[in-house]
Amino acid sequence: MSETIMQVKHITKKFPVSGNKFLMACDDINLTIKSGQTVGIVGESGCGKSTLVKTILNMHAPTSGEVIFHEKDITKLKGEAKRQNCRNIQMVFQDPTAAFDPKMKIADIICEPLLNFNLIKKSQIKQKARELLELVELPADLVDRYPNNMSGGQRQRVAIARALALEPEIIVCDEATSALDVSVQAKIIELLVRLQREKNITYIFICHDLALVSLFSHRIAVMYLGNIVEKIDGDKLQQAQHPYTQALLRSIFYVDEEKNKNIETLTGEIPSPLDLPIGCPFQNRCKYCKDICKQTKPQLEEVSSNHFVACHLV
Ligand code: SF4
Repeated sequence: MSETIMQVKHITKKFPVSGNKFLMACDDINLTIKSGQTVGIVGESGCGKSTLVKTILNMHAPTSGEVIFHEKDITKLKGEAKRQNCRNIQMVFQDPTAAFDPKMKIADIICEPLLNFNLIKKSQIKQKARELLELVELPADLVDRYPNNMSGGQRQRVAIARALALEPEIIVCDEATSALDVSVQAKIIELLVRLQREKNITYIFICHDLALVSLFSHRIAVMYLGNIVEKIDGDKLQQAQHPYTQALLRSIFYVDEEKNKNIETLTGEIPSPLDLPIGCPFQNRCKYCKDICKQTKPQLEEVSSNHFVACHLV
């Protein structure tokens, strides 16, 4: 049984905008993250998943709520304590090219976090970078390359090597495979799964692709307009009950033509987060919407063991 490594408790994030209004990016989010497991956070663009991650990473303060890691609320950390906390929670972004300095060699990119924390000497950079490149299944002789002379998949492996350098307990992958070809995506996922098995790393995997997330997530949280609308074990995803999760499942494209006969795309626009409807946030796209859905916002309720759904009809 895995231990809880992090607890996201009642995280709300509102951004003030003009006219005394605010944009509700995350509304009372609760998540329990277990050591050595993967939590997939899924939803369309603008659902609040990236804001949630930035809050978990302490890149901005929540409006309210806590993120408990090693018995501390890390949203309150400042200065050196905040910097030291970064050692334990690292990030892999969608576009590593944007995160890399094109004038730095791969060895320097990978070992920069180690130098920042005085964990290696300059003379050790190449050897350490070689070890980390081999860990992510890249040839060690890439140490002298520049990122622009590599493929997208190789760059993403370098980003993973850099994230691994500090031996973090948690790695947050923010759409980390979204910009890659499907075949490269699969290889990166295989790599992440192997590293998790070998090093007991915990992943928070942010993605818009439910099919991909379901391949390797132990828990899945589905977000819609700043709310978690369903939390379910990854291997029980086919039992999802929220109409939004079900719609996402029906929109998955399969190679098998027979399965594709039932494909349905989600219609209707996502409401503006500046002007949220009263009641259920999914009401204008939900084919089961009833009067109560327009009056009262449904709360996440446990409908079966460890399966939570926010819907009046479930
Ligand atoms: Fe649809 Fe109503 Fe459930 Fe919202 S609460 S998902 S509108 S049925």
